[in-house]
Amino acid sequence: MKCSYCSTEIEKGTGFAYVRRNGVVRYYCSGRCKKLNLDHNRKMRGPS
Ligand SMILES: [Zn+2]
Repeated sequence: MKCSYCSTEIEKGTGFAYVRRNGVVRYYCSGRCKKLNLDHNRKMRGPS
């Protein structure tokens, strides 16, 4: 799968999986991408 933030291909068994409260699973290549994306979502409360 690809990183939900930077679209880097993530090898199976690596990276981070994050399950949002609405059941959507996000994958991140690194903790940095996870943090940046979560910060981004916090500022931009879109319809998704
Ligand atoms: Zn990434």
